[in-house]
Amino acid sequence: MSERFSRRDFLASTTLATAAVLTVPGHAKSILTEAKTEPFSDWKMKPVMDFSKSPYAKLRQVPVGAVTISGYWASRRKTNVESSIPSMREELADHGRMTNFERLQSRSKEPQKGPVYSDSDIYKWTEAVAYTLQSESRPELKKVADEQIREVVAIQEPNGYLNTYYVEDRKPLRMQQHTQEVGHELYCMGHYLQGAIAYYRATGDPTMLNAGIRFVDDFLLPNYGPGANQKPIVSGHPEIEMSLIELYRTTGNRKYVDLAGYILHGDKRWTIKPNAIVYMYCGIPFPERTKLEGHAVRCMYACCGATDYYLETGDPAYWKTLEALWQDLASHQLYVTGGVGARAEGEAFGDAYELPNARAYGESCAAIGNMMWNARMLAATGEARFADVMERALYNGINSGMSLDGKLYCYRNPLAFEPATGDVIRNPWYDTTCCPPNIERTFSSLPGYFYSTSKDGIYVHLYDTSEMNWHLEDGTGLKISQKTEYPWKGDVSMTVSPAKSQEFTVYLRIPGWSAGNSVRVNGKTVDGAKAGEYLAIRRKWSTGDRIELAMDMTPRLLKANAAVMEDVGKTAMQRGPIVFCMEGLDQAEENHGLNMANLRLDLKGETKVRFEPETLGGVTVLEHPGSFVAGAPDLYRTASPGPGEKNGTMLKLIPYYAWANRKPSPMQVWIPYTEA
Ligand SMILES: [Zn+2]
Repeated sequence: MSERFSRRDFLASTTLATAAVLTVPGHAKSILTEAKTEPFSDWKMKPVMDFSKSPYAKLRQVPVGAVTISGYWASRRKTNVESSIPSMREELADHGRMTNFERLQSRSKEPQKGPVYSDSDIYKWTEAVAYTLQSESRPELKKVADEQIREVVAIQEPNGYLNTYYVEDRKPLRMQQHTQEVGHELYCMGHYLQGAIAYYRATGDPTMLNAGIRFVDDFLLPNYGPGANQKPIVSGHPEIEMSLIELYRTTGNRKYVDLAGYILHGDKRWTIKPNAIVYMYCGIPFPERTKLEGHAVRCMYACCGATDYYLETGDPAYWKTLEALWQDLASHQLYVTGGVGARAEGEAFGDAYELPNARAYGESCAAIGNMMWNARMLAATGEARFADVMERALYNGINSGMSLDGKLYCYRNPLAFEPATGDVIRNPWYDTTCCPPNIERTFSSLPGYFYSTSKDGIYVHLYDTSEMNWHLEDGTGLKISQKTEYPWKGDVSMTVSPAKSQEFTVYLRIPGWSAGNSVRVNGKTVDGAKAGEYLAIRRKWSTGDRIELAMDMTPRLLKANAAVMEDVGKTAMQRGPIVFCMEGLDQAEENHGLNMANLRLDLKGETKVRFEPETLGGVTVLEHPGSFVAGAPDLYRTASPGPGEKNGTMLKLIPYYAWANRKPSPMQVWIPYTEA
């Protein structure tokens, strides 16, 4: 890592920071002055979320740069960096997202382009680049990002304000209550800070970060907050909370945690309408929440911020609420794909058990919010139930959001689809383009979710062929290599190599879906592996020690809670972490105009598992016996098919994430079944 950033690069970056100080009056005591010699303490090899000093974090993330993936996720990540990130950069440029910045420097006469939150898409894209640069050297990409950052920071006003929408005629609207509720100023700054922190941790260049600090220190903190001389803050789209806490983790400045706490608490001086309190998931003290509701992305981001706040403060009221909200998630609100947010109207959570399939909203951003929240809950506890949700969302409801060629994206991720509705589910661009760069930053950051350290050892959360080169919390160097064909096969062979022989614990995640497991260390069976828990293997580890984990990849037929009305009489198939679906074009009778609604899966049939290297970039497919009723699907018919109506067939299923990558075709995850 260190070789990539020469002393000259480092000095160049700090010079920029210094120049910025000189153009902004009244900064003699600011943190910027210190940036002349050393930006902040140590920028290299920091995790996505740096819990290293978080007193209530049981686990600490391993940095993106410490894990090299060469298995299943390597190809998805290669597509991400070589196809998605460059094509999204072009889309952003073609849709004027950068001319918004150029106009404010008198270099473009174009009018303002895009919705109020357009700046955030640039910042999420920068964050995606940043994690890529934490993994590998990409000088061309860095050059583009560097230039873009210069364009962005150039529009910062002397008072620290930085936003391309609330300028010129709209300047008087800045930070008014209505603007705070719907205008996304702090949402944009939240994404700005996350991008800036990730970029700083990738390159050591504090240019973007320093401008973000100026926004918070010079514009926000002096004027907004709980004080009598400050105006209130309402977080119309939560996001700033988690970014402020990561800013604290980056700078060590506690005032950012306090500000996040104030925002999470809400400010009674402003009256907020009850429906806005639900929709925005802010405006009342976070610990007063009793369920997930309102706009799903807002709600998930608020939960991320609240968990970050808990990790720094240990406030028990926050933990009690977070646990209750998580139970609501797992018991009532989670799609089998890990997606959340059932309703299109308001992009919102539905009532408990309201999980429609074709109408499912399941925004890609909400699934990402779900994963980010569960990663934080995992850090707080070390409990595998959170990693299970993380994995479910990652392999399914997030993974589905990007096409196999990396150039098309889902905004919503339904669990059933009928092309005759005219809906086009994968598109290169959305005017609200929150999801595409969000998926890109998630895939870029993925190596950072594989492992955590704890006081007594190392946690293995995710499996893929990969190499980890990091250290235990006492500083002892540690390498772990994984060899596996996961997620298609359940065997993982791991080599654990500490720099010196030492006693510590390897916590091996046994997924909740894996009913039968075997674990061996250097050929000897280790007892106690339980589905949905970490198996703690404590021993004296020496270089080259081998762990062999065999998970249970038997295809599973799932039934939903009977209260989920849309899934009554239906089953979904899952094998390993992958949820499957049926596309019409794979079914034998598709050419005969057979309606998907007429297909039935035989619960007693035996599933055949087959890897098809030529299908959808190489996937495992399932074949399962079923039947169909010939003819047009009636609205009602007798419960038992009449003579000759029932015909045997084989149903073919593909991984859900890979759907809609061929010609338009009906799709369903939940399939009607027969037990005959
Ligand atoms: Zn989105």
